[in-house]
Amino acid sequence: MTADWHETAFETRAIHAGQDPDPTTGAIITPIYQTSTFVQEAVGQHRGFEYGRTDNPTRSALQEVLASLEGGAWALAYASGLAATQNVFYLLNPGDHVLLSDDAYGGTHRFIAKVMHRYGIDYSLVDMTDLEAVRGAIRPETKLVWTETPSNPYLKIVDIRGVADLLRGHPALLLVDNTFASPYLQNPLRLGADLVLHSTTKYIGGHSDVVGGAVIGNDQGIYDTLKFHQNAAGAIPGPLDVWLALRGIKTLAVRMERHSQNARAVAAYLQEHPAVRQVFYPGLADHPGHEIAARQMRDFSGMVSFTVRGDVDAATEVARSTRIFQLAESLGGVESLIEHPGQMTHASVAGTGAEVEETLLRLSVGIENEADLIADLKQALEVVVPATAAR
Ligand SMILES: *Cc1c(COP(=O)(O)O)cnc(C)c1O
Repeated sequence: MTADWHETAFETRAIHAGQDPDPTTGAIITPIYQTSTFVQEAVGQHRGFEYGRTDNPTRSALQEVLASLEGGAWALAYASGLAATQNVFYLLNPGDHVLLSDDAYGGTHRFIAKVMHRYGIDYSLVDMTDLEAVRGAIRPETKLVWTETPSNPYLKIVDIRGVADLLRGHPALLLVDNTFASPYLQNPLRLGADLVLHSTTKYIGGHSDVVGGAVIGNDQGIYDTLKFHQNAAGAIPGPLDVWLALRGIKTLAVRMERHSQNARAVAAYLQEHPAVRQVFYPGLADHPGHEIAARQMRDFSGMVSFTVRGDVDAATEVARSTRIFQLAESLGGVESLIEHPGQMTHASVAGTGAEVEETLLRLSVGIENEADLIADLKQALEVVVPATAAR
């Protein structure tokens, strides 16, 4: 027996939506359909699947649960977050204009500036936390407004409903890159966005073992265009990769709760530390986006950035000295990571005006024990301020 999962809560849908027991064997877990083609009963008479680029049952399961968790009518899964981004750009034509968050993910900026720009797509950058600036930057030929909240690495918060309201009556689509929040903490479609994008590499996969992407929406015409171009261009995920994302998604709710709880504790600790200059975490009451975040998010997620007192060497020394926080790019896995945006994730923005402070460090707070994480940061920060001075 299977229930109508649409009636159930997020945690239940994450485990069951699109994931009914396998009809042929009863396997409780969706099988990895590792096959390139599907046998037909007679010419043109197939069971919904013809060829592995076009569709695959494991991929369909992931797409169904993602649509359910974001409150969308459909989802499409891709080989990476950037493959999903590329597919969205097939909605545009030469001469169209894109309005992009000035602190959008570096790879998104690079794709638009270095690739799509060559194909006649114009773009401009705007601080999307400033709704008046957004209003002023929209042009008649703007067809896509691309925002990201919380953003990277300063965790700035964009008022999704505010931007959606601004665009009412304008043909531009509003896309929200929801990677940093995950569908458990924020559902942009419910706030007026047209499309949601995820790098499933991050919180959705959640275990640092897969690269993938997804787009979720409600409009059938947009789905048809994206699906046609995905099949025509081929940016599909493999069956094992979608299976890993499916496996990760089952525990998304509990992981996000713990990520948020640990990040809140880490941010509070850092804020009191004499070696820390400034902490950026939307859960802190003094964060400029705190009120909007509290309104549009269920919790504040697991990303925390901070600047240390001293120079760039002090910052890189802290990043080298942590023992539980591993020094690596990426985010959203169960294990805690630390990185130096100026020389790692954001090195490519040098010279673009979107540079980050050189003493900035970014944490992806994992789901290890909270006291262990704080003890690790305490000992690492002693390279900046000797133990006796640290609280
Ligand atoms: C990682 C990331 C992407 C790109 O996703 P990939 O899976 O690495 O291609 C896009 N947006 C954000 C916010 C990301 O963190």
